[in-house]
Amino acid sequence: MEKIKIPTATAKRLPLYYRYLVILNDAGKEKVSSTELSEAVQVDSASIRRDFSYFGALGKRGYGYDVKNLLAFFKKILNQDTLTNVALIGVGNLGHALLNYNFKRTNNIRISCAFDINKAITGKILCGVPVYDMSELKKQITDQQIEIAILTVPSDTAQKTANEMINDGVKGIMNFTPIRLSTPAGIRVQNVDLATELQTLIYFLDSEKENNK
Ligand code: ATP
Repeated sequence: MEKIKIPTATAKRLPLYYRYLVILNDAGKEKVSSTELSEAVQVDSASIRRDFSYFGALGKRGYGYDVKNLLAFFKKILNQDTLTNVALIGVGNLGHALLNYNFKRTNNIRISCAFDINKAITGKILCGVPVYDMSELKKQITDQQIEIAILTVPSDTAQKTANEMINDGVKGIMNFTPIRLSTPAGIRVQNVDLATELQTLIYFLDSEKENNK
């Protein structure tokens, strides 16, 4: 399939659309309007139309979108037919929780291997996932053709571990540490800082309370 250049904001919304289309399709719905989609995924309908326009004419004016066509299209774009193996580095509390979670709600991503330096857990299988020593990182990610790794090590080793992963062939990092990693060009980092997200939420709730006083 030809690669289409799309804005990051659009790319982030694609899984939302996809998940809702699966629900509609399972419910036997054949058509969906951008207004309906908009209400369900909480994205304004103008943005939805703009997002879809990057992929050419997917719908007709006044008719809405054909659910099956749209679903097949997004399935292809989001690589839903291919299983993506992901590595997890640092099996502490958070790492362990993610291993346990293991993206069971999606059927095309799974954590297939985990790494740690703690000899008490390396060589074991946790939540169905083998935990290897860091010295095996290169071999495993090469053998399993892994390009993406989840980083859940302590902050003080985050950069060093990221460098090691990149050296060994990782191209994308889901960074759960609060550290902003510096990485060479061509490496993609998604930061997931749970504490900051919660603090932002607390800030907004507090300022709403202030405004309502
Ligand atoms: P969390 O932050 O997930 O709650 P925790 O408090 O249980 O974790 P941390 O000290 O943050 O533990 O360490 C997370 C995991 O990362 C531990 O299992 C630790 O052994 C592992 N770890 C520490 N340093 C490295 C490293 N350089 N490479 C790989 N794993 C590491």
